[in-house]
Amino acid sequence: MSEPRAPTPTSASAAELLAWQRRLIGADSPAAVGAVILALAASLPGCEKASLLWRDGATPTQGAAVTPGDVVWAREGLADHGFCLSDDRRRVVWRLLSGQPIALLLQFASGQQEHALRMVLESHFALASHHLLHELELAGLRESHQQVERSEKLQHALFSIADLAGSELDMSDMLRGIQGIVGTLLYAENFFLLRYDPERDTVRFLYYADTENDERMEDAGETPLEFWNGTRTWHLLTTGKALMGRNESLHALVEAPLRILGPEYAYWVGVPMLRDGQARGALVVQSYLKDTIYTTQDRVLLEFVASHILTALERRQGRDALEQQVRRRTQELVEANVAMQGEVVERQRAEALQTVLFQLAQLATAEIDEDSFYEQVHVVVGRLLNAENFFIALISEDCQHLDFPYYVDTETRGMPSRPIGHGLSEYVLRTATPLLLRQQSEIDALSGQGVVVPQHVGQPATCWLGVPLLVGDEVIGLVTVQSLVDTVSYNEADRELLSFAASQIANSIRRRRSAASLQQAKMQLEQRVEERTQELRTLIAERERVQEQLRHQVMHDALTGLPNRGYLCDRVDHLLGVLKRKPERRCALLYLDIDHFKSINDSFGHLAGDEFLKMISGRLQLCVRDPDLVARLSGDEFAIVLEDIEAPASAVNVAQRVLKALHEPLQTAGEVLEPSVSIGIAIGDHRYGSSDELLHAADTALYRAKASGRHRFEMFDQVHAPGLDDGRASASEVPE
Ligand code: GH3
Ligand code: MG
Repeated sequence: MSEPRAPTPTSASAAELLAWQRRLIGADSPAAVGAVILALAASLPGCEKASLLWRDGATPTQGAAVTPGDVVWAREGLADHGFCLSDDRRRVVWRLLSGQPIALLLQFASGQQEHALRMVLESHFALASHHLLHELELAGLRESHQQVERSEKLQHALFSIADLAGSELDMSDMLRGIQGIVGTLLYAENFFLLRYDPERDTVRFLYYADTENDERMEDAGETPLEFWNGTRTWHLLTTGKALMGRNESLHALVEAPLRILGPEYAYWVGVPMLRDGQARGALVVQSYLKDTIYTTQDRVLLEFVASHILTALERRQGRDALEQQVRRRTQELVEANVAMQGEVVERQRAEALQTVLFQLAQLATAEIDEDSFYEQVHVVVGRLLNAENFFIALISEDCQHLDFPYYVDTETRGMPSRPIGHGLSEYVLRTATPLLLRQQSEIDALSGQGVVVPQHVGQPATCWLGVPLLVGDEVIGLVTVQSLVDTVSYNEADRELLSFAASQIANSIRRRRSAASLQQAKMQLEQRVEERTQELRTLIAERERVQEQLRHQVMHDALTGLPNRGYLCDRVDHLLGVLKRKPERRCALLYLDIDHFKSINDSFGHLAGDEFLKMISGRLQLCVRDPDLVARLSGDEFAIVLEDIEAPASAVNVAQRVLKALHEPLQTAGEVLEPSVSIGIAIGDHRYGSSDELLHAADTALYRAKASGRHRFEMFDQVHAPGLDDGRASASEVPE
């Protein structure tokens, strides 16, 4: 189909007009309409070149190429009237539509008439101009529509990013989601995102997806920024400016040398994620497809998205940090709570334990009998652990038996003594250490090793705890709790408690035993003292008896048994002492000497003389009354003391009685004798200082009686007595 000729007002046929109109109707974009306009212009007679200039600068010129000079000339020419003819009248520029930045630049082979040309142009291009205006409006509407669509898409993407940031997804799933969202805006199959920490000057890949590189950059952790020196990312982060383009063009964009890491032929768009003008990370998309080109709009979009991603990341990280802090704090609180509850339980147990220990210690020193003690220990121990089956066993004194002073279990009470064998109890006694067997298998194991031969009576124990009773280093017995059911078992705490109970029981037993032995020792001592006292009493009595005997011997005459001179002197001294205090009272001393006694001795022998003397003493004793005293002074000399006499006459009476009594015939050695005696009397009063003085006075009187013929008495006469200047009387004869 040949190009229709440009219709002129004169030449246009209806068919030609219809053909152009059809072409215009078929043109459905400004550029297509422009092409029809250019074709129409080219068909004008003499037209050499036709160009369509778009004044927005962005849309390329349509039709023939134009020089910059042409553009400058056209812009100036259009400024005034929208139509301008060149000086040589061959070039013309004409604004197709008033108010629209579109002009038609034509060059003719020869000069044109301005008026005629204007008429031709206005008539030829009127319809096309209207159509172009219509298409421009449509294009504007389409553009606006797309813009709205893009805005909606972007808005939707940003909402989705915000949603993702607030979701429960983990970081990598969230970033994968963000990649998908960015992918709805532009080609983002190769997508990575990293954070930069300005304080630590480190880089960390948060997400890395690359169709050509399956490295997991996220696993690299933090790397110093310096490590990436010279790379595209490094430039992004250090300049805080986006980079976009193919590798070769990027070299020109950066000031420092560019180091390319990763596969070649990539179209690369990287945008920094900025906070307060400082890069805090970067978002990069790239393509290995040769025909992929990211536009400036994409870059701007990516920058916008990046800033929102940064906000979302910071929010997510802040939330994660907060959640982590809350979790850590919650965990700390849970742990603290658990620890505190544990402490409370432990404290309650410690308090209960302390109470029990205190009660046990009190019991150990309580003044109660042994049975009550064991019973109460059982009750107290039962407050802290299961003591349904509890016994105390003691080694017998002969070490041959095990006695059970206390035995209680669910079935029986009391347990008779048994010979020491190889039971669990004996094992504890042998080892002298506590034994805790938590389960039947442990008991069986000991038994299997032959270490013990169980000696249980009745049901066997499933758990057994025995603690030795120690007094010093000596094991005296044991205390045991045992369980017969699986639901009750004992642990280390129970072992400690029972050990304490055992020490208190042992302490009590030791105390009781030492008290008993003390009592026994006391009794033995008392008995010994009693025996010794009795011995001493006997000894003392014997000594007293001997002393008495001695004293008697000392104070008495062996032959007659009468008091002797010493005895008499003591008595007289005592009496004179009394008289000193009672000067009105008197005593008397009768001094006797047997007349011619020698002749008896001589005639009948000394023994007969002794016999004679004894008989004389017997007669003398009959002559006096208590408290008067008869004493033998020596040989055939006797004395009589009259303690209290009214007058000297009393003494004379006694002397006369004596003279008479002695003179009675007396048989000795087969002979009948008529003994006689001479008596000297001295009356004692307060003026006598001693017994010697009184004896001397009486002796003086006796001497006079002898001298006067014997068988008589003489009273000591105080007046005539030589040497008695103190007025005491000298002896004077008293006639019979
Ligand atoms: P006179 O009349 O002067 O008293 O003379 P007499 O013979 O009694 O002698 P005198 O009194 O002087 O002596 C006492 C004698 O008694 C002297 C002594 O041999 C004797 N004689 C002394 N003691 C004992 C004695 O214990 N037993 C005996 N048988 N004779 C004794
Ligand atoms: Mg004589």
